[in-house]
Amino acid sequence: MKERRIEMTCPHCGHVFQIKRDTLAIAGISENIEKALAKKTYFLHQCSKCHGMFEMVYPFMFYEPKKHTILFLGKKEWLSNLKDEIVICHSKPEQFLFSYQVLSKGLNLAYVLKKKKIWENKWNARIEFESYDQEHHCLWILVNQEPKAILLSKEEEIELTS
Ligand SMILES: [Zn+2]
Repeated sequence: MKERRIEMTCPHCGHVFQIKRDTLAIAGISENIEKALAKKTYFLHQCSKCHGMFEMVYPFMFYEPKKHTILFLGKKEWLSNLKDEIVICHSKPEQFLFSYQVLSKGLNLAYVLKKKKIWENKWNARIEFESYDQEHHCLWILVNQEPKAILLSKEEEIELTS
């Protein structure tokens, strides 16, 4: 949806090229994009010249109508007329993908983002979201790619799923 030509520069070799990318995806409609977002590969690109991998950063919007939420990769100033929606801006693909994993599982994103800040301060590490294990009442996250289970109290679980 809303495909655009984007100019990119490979951070490894400086190769400048143009690439066609979707700039908007909608939950439940943009199936292929969602699959790649879930696998955390959507923003990855391999340079045709040096074959180095890198994450592409360009204005990209994911809309979840059921939660009235927009995840945006880019700056808030680039958006307008979105008064009725919750807009969450991200400067890096890894932050965007974190929000996507939480939102796509129907969890309370504001709550998990608040927790993410606490985890980042505690471990001073890159935090990724994996899943919510309802049966064992915990969240699975990756701390510098190491899996960690975060046990939840009853109150926390209620907030998480509200
Ligand atoms: Zn390159």
